Amino acid sequence: MGISVHILSSSSNCMSTIFDDFKNYLEKMNRYERASSLFYWDMRTATPKQGMDGMIDAVTFFSSEAFAMATSDELGGYLDALAAPEEFGKLDDTWKFIVKRMKREFDRDRRIPADVYEAYIRAQAESESAWEEAKRKSDYSLFAPHLKKMIDFTKEITGYTDPDKEIYDALLDQYEEGMDSATIDRLFEELKKDLIPLTDKILRAEQPDDSAFQGYFDPDAQRKVQMMLLDYIGFRKSAGTVGETEHPFTMAFSSKDVRVTNHYYENMPLSSVFSAIHEGGHGIFEQNVNPDLDNTVAGSCRYMGIHESQSRFYENILGRNRNFWVPIYGKLGTLLPQFADIPLDDFYWEINHVRASLIRTEADEVTYCFHIILRYEMEKAIFRDNVDVNELPKLWNEKMQEYLHITPANDAEGILQDSHWSGGSFGYFPSYLLGSIYDGMYLDAMEAELGPVDEILADGRIAEITHWLNEKIHRYGSTRTPKEVIAAVCGKEVSAEPLVRYFTKKYEKLYRLK
Ligand code: ZN
Repeated sequence: MGISVHILSSSSNCMSTIFDDFKNYLEKMNRYERASSLFYWDMRTATPKQGMDGMIDAVTFFSSEAFAMATSDELGGYLDALAAPEEFGKLDDTWKFIVKRMKREFDRDRRIPADVYEAYIRAQAESESAWEEAKRKSDYSLFAPHLKKMIDFTKEITGYTDPDKEIYDALLDQYEEGMDSATIDRLFEELKKDLIPLTDKILRAEQPDDSAFQGYFDPDAQRKVQMMLLDYIGFRKSAGTVGETEHPFTMAFSSKDVRVTNHYYENMPLSSVFSAIHEGGHGIFEQNVNPDLDNTVAGSCRYMGIHESQSRFYENILGRNRNFWVPIYGKLGTLLPQFADIPLDDFYWEINHVRASLIRTEADEVTYCFHIILRYEMEKAIFRDNVDVNELPKLWNEKMQEYLHITPANDAEGILQDSHWSGGSFGYFPSYLLGSIYDGMYLDAMEAELGPVDEILADGRIAEITHWLNEKIHRYGSTRTPKEVIAAVCGKEVSAEPLVRYFTKKYEKLYRLK
């Protein structure tokens, strides 16, 4: 570990001691952050139920230590000294970015009282455990008081960090810098206008026969499929590992240690297949950030819309393309023999089977948009209209009816299905759909430069696509904001039009709507 970037290209003997001390300080802080991340990983992947309290205690300690270091007078002193013109002028561009970014975050975090932060971390760990149990028992009442706590903490902390901003806009900005609800309203409305009638048409059309996808699919074989897919798309095992969790996620300790998880349902093989590709997309991003940025605020991508644009590009634009499977469909049939009997065209239709369904993570790419719009509107109701937590399941079910004309039979398949709110991640959900909206734009830019993606995939040249994404997006880590990424890659303002055009072309053909 450690930071391998140097500020001065020459005369290293006059390297600023402030800068050296600052780097040493960052390394120490990184060790605390790494420890708390490792506890988090263990709690999600391995800790037994009775061991959870001990782990919560430890993660609270290490997170609080890291937070104390991130808000200490000593760090403030380094940042002030390095931000002064004379020292700042000696820094290279990367370190200029790091100092500026850290100074901004320092000033924000400093406003959070340490006891409030510590109480928040503890409440967060308890809330995540309560949610797991509530979901398992499908009992919202076990989670409601924790959810209320997380909402109250979020309001209180955002009041400290962003006193001048409207709370929900401040939350959106934390996950996707520069994004606000006015822009999201515009993009989502643009999408709804065409997607509602297109979805209606698709749902009325003839549907694929999914009977061959029912039954038992060996979880061990699914694990092997995951490994095959990760290799195929370019996730490096030498710098990555795989775990099993209730809800798949990706965690990066550095570009050299990136961990993805999955969940294998024995009766839903496509779930782990597409989670493998999705998390693999996040993982490839993290593995390909310039390693010089490791362990700094410029490394690991912290813009969730941009991050989701990569996982969703692999999962949907590539993974749900028929030609993605042409070179590897035989291998899939070897590992999971049921697929050997299914013609590729039937497989292709089933992986794009559009249906009104309850679970976001299992949704097709078209109705998925409505799952996100629902959550976005719920979050606005929570933070703008202050809707009571006890009213939320009802509101959820009403919106499910409005957009997909179905109602969950219980809260486990309704409001309790996702972990985000239990961890206080409010304002995160829109990132998924922003990611898809960006993907429509990347697809245009990529095809203009590399030619038709259909042909590249059919030829088994997916490495060319991964390389393009590495060069255009991944290597920059967090050094470019979402707006800068879109401007650099696509040369235009963000718009939902390319995504709508992609959906329309693909599904009119697949469902023979014309
Ligand atoms: Zn994701």
